[in-house]
Amino acid sequence: MHISRRNFVKLLGGSLAGFAVGGLGEALIKIPNAVVPILYKGPRIETWKITTCAKCPGHCGLRVRMIDDLPVQVFGNPLSPINAGGICPMGLTSIQNLYHPDRLTSPMRKVNGKFQKVSYHEAYGILSKALQDNSGEKTAFVAQAESDFMGRLIHDFTQSLKSEKVAIDRFGSKTVLPYRSAADDYPDFIDFSRCDLIINFGSQLTEISESPLFFSRAVNDLRSKRGSIVTFSPKLTPSAFKSKPWIPVLPEFYEDVALGLACVILNDGTYDKGFVQKNFNDFGSFRQLILEDYSPADVEKKTGVPSKDIIATAREFASATSPVAYFDESILQSSNGTRNAYAVLALNALRGFSGYGKLQTREIPGDDKTKSDAASASWNTSRLIGDADLKVLLIYRSNFIFNSPNSEDLRKAISNIPLVVSFSPFIDETTELANLIIPDHDDFEKFDAMSSTVTGAPVVSVQRPVVKPFYATTHTGDVLISLMHDLNLSKDLPYGNYVDYLRANLKPVYKHGKGMLMAQKKPTGLEKSLHEAGWQLTSYSDFDEFWDQMLKYGGWWDPFPKVEQFSPTLSLSASQLTGKGSASSEKKTHDADSLTLNIFSKNLDYKGNMLRNAALTEQFGVERDVYYDTWIEINPNTAKKLSVGDRTKVRVQTRRGSFVATAIHNPTVVPSNIDVPFGLGHKFTEKKYGINPIDYADYVFDEATGTPSLSETSVKIE
Ligand code: SF4
Repeated sequence: MHISRRNFVKLLGGSLAGFAVGGLGEALIKIPNAVVPILYKGPRIETWKITTCAKCPGHCGLRVRMIDDLPVQVFGNPLSPINAGGICPMGLTSIQNLYHPDRLTSPMRKVNGKFQKVSYHEAYGILSKALQDNSGEKTAFVAQAESDFMGRLIHDFTQSLKSEKVAIDRFGSKTVLPYRSAADDYPDFIDFSRCDLIINFGSQLTEISESPLFFSRAVNDLRSKRGSIVTFSPKLTPSAFKSKPWIPVLPEFYEDVALGLACVILNDGTYDKGFVQKNFNDFGSFRQLILEDYSPADVEKKTGVPSKDIIATAREFASATSPVAYFDESILQSSNGTRNAYAVLALNALRGFSGYGKLQTREIPGDDKTKSDAASASWNTSRLIGDADLKVLLIYRSNFIFNSPNSEDLRKAISNIPLVVSFSPFIDETTELANLIIPDHDDFEKFDAMSSTVTGAPVVSVQRPVVKPFYATTHTGDVLISLMHDLNLSKDLPYGNYVDYLRANLKPVYKHGKGMLMAQKKPTGLEKSLHEAGWQLTSYSDFDEFWDQMLKYGGWWDPFPKVEQFSPTLSLSASQLTGKGSASSEKKTHDADSLTLNIFSKNLDYKGNMLRNAALTEQFGVERDVYYDTWIEINPNTAKKLSVGDRTKVRVQTRRGSFVATAIHNPTVVPSNIDVPFGLGHKFTEKKYGINPIDYADYVFDEATGTPSLSETSVKIE
C-alpha cells in the first residue's frame, strides 16, 4: 500500500524522523499490506533494537526506535566504540530505503526486454543451471559489499567456481593495493594516542572514509590536543576545512608534492636514519633521485604549490613526534594514483611510519586486509570489455555503470553476456541491464557483520534484522551458500546459510575469551584491573549465548588490544616512483589558465545514490533552487575572466559532449578547476534531474588499479 509520508507520520503519532518531503514531490512510503492493519490500529507500543549501519564502511552502531514492531527512527548507538552515539545524515535516513516505494518486491526475469515477476524457485533454477554449465573463467562477480564478511563469502564463492574475475568494491578496500606492491605489511590504524600531525593527501576523512564518524571524533580530539592536519586536495571539503592549512593542488600532483616534502627532509638530514637503513631497500638510489629531481622550486613549477609551503610542511613533518602522511582509496582516482600512494609511503618511511599502529594478534579469521581486501587487485570492471569468454555475470549491489566513465563500452560488453544476474534491491543503471534479478533484503531485514581495526582495537559490529522481510526478497549470502552446496562447489562446507557462516567466522572471537560486548561504554577501573590479572571481562556459558548477546548489544570489541608500531619494509624502485615509460609519467605542468573538470562527491555519498533519497539530496545542494539541477562551482576570478555571472546558466564543454549547469561563484575553488558534484543524472527517477558528470569525463584510469580519474578532463565554459 502506498501512503504519504504525512499520513505515515500522523499514524505513528508524529514519531517518524529522517523522512523528507522533498523537491521530488511528497515522498511516498510503501507498506506491505500485512502491516497496514497494525499501522492503523496500534496498539502503539514503543520498543528499541540495536543493529549496525551498512550504508558505508564506517560500521556505526544504531539504535532503532520501533512502534508496533515497525522501525520509525534511527539513532547512533552510544555504546559502539566506533561512533559513540553519533550518526550521519545517511545513517539517520537509512530506514527510508526499507519503506521506499521503488523497492523490488520479488525476483524478476527479463522477457522481451521487460521485467516480469518470477518465483524465487524459478530464478534460482536459471542461475544454478547457468553456473553448472559455465563455471570457471566464464563467470564474473562485481560486488559493492560494505560488509567484509560478505566480501569474503563472495571471494570464497568465486574461488569455488574457479573464477578469478571478481571485483569487490568497498570504499577503502583498494587502499591496501599500493602497500601490497611496495611494502610487506599494511597498517591497521592511525595511532591517535601518539599522532600529533596528519599530512592528508586528498582524503575526506570525516565524510567519505573507512569510518567517517570515528575519524570526526578522532580529528576533533587531535585538534583539541593541539595536533594539526595539513590537507593537500583540489577542493575545500568539510574535512579540508578542519585542516590548517589547506593547500590546493590537483590529485595528479600528489606524488610530486610528497616527494618534494621528502626532498626537504633528506636535504635537512632530519629523517629516521635507523629506520631507512633497516627498512627501505636501496635507500641510496631513492635519496639520489629525490635530491636531483624534486627540489621545492621544481615542485612549485610543476604543481603550483608554493615552495615555501612545501618547505614549511616538510619541516613540520620532520619535527612532529609521531606524524602520519595519510592517503586512502581516493588517492587512486588519478592516472598516476598508485604512484601518488608510493610517494606518500616513501614520505612516511622517512619518519619510520611512527604515527601508524598495528594489532599484534587477530581474532577474526581472514581479517587480514593484505589478503581479503585485495580481491580486486588483478581484475576490475574494465576487464569486462572484450572478454568474449564470459557467459555469466553476477552483480551484488554495485551500480558500476553509473560510476564508470566507460559506461557505454561496459553496456555493450554486458549485452553480449548471456546471463546477467543482479542481487540489487532496486532498479538502477546497472540492474536494468540484467536478465534476472534476485533482490537482496533491505539492511533492516538481514543479518550481517563487519570487522574493523580503525579505532586501534578489533571491533566486530553485528547487523541483525529489526523487521521480518517485507517482500519476497532473499539474503544474497543464502543464495550463494545454497549454490555452493547444490553445485558441489566446495567440499565439506561447514555452513548451511549465511547466519551459520557468520557464526562459524565468529567462533574464534568467542574461543579466545578476550574483549567485551558493546553493553557498556568502557571497562570500569575494576574490570581493567581484573583484565590485567588475567580475568575474562565477559563470560558466556556457550557460543550460542555469546551469539545471542552479540545480537542484543550490536557487537563485540577488545578494549585492551596488544598493539605495536607499524614497521614495514619498503621496496620502491625509481621506475615505480617516477613511472618512467608509462603514459601518465608524461604529465602536464600545472597551468592556471587551462580549466579542469573536478568531479567531487557530496558528503558521504561516494556511491552517488542519494538522488533516491530526497532528504540527502536537499541537504547537500548549494541552496534550495539548485538541489536537483547540476551546478558547477567556479572561482570568482576565473568567472570574471570568462564573464560568467554568479548563478547564471553556462554550457560546459568537454571532449565527450556538453551540458548546461548553474555557475556558482566559490572563492575556495582552485582557479584552474570547474567543480561539479557527483550523484545527479540518474535514470531511476521519473524525471531526469541533472547530469552524471562521469559521462563527460575522459577515459582516464589509474594504470595499476583501474580506478577512474575524476580530475583530469579538460573543459571549456561557454
Ligand atoms: S558514517 Fe557510514 S556507517 Fe556511520 S551512520 Fe553514516 S553511513 Fe552509516
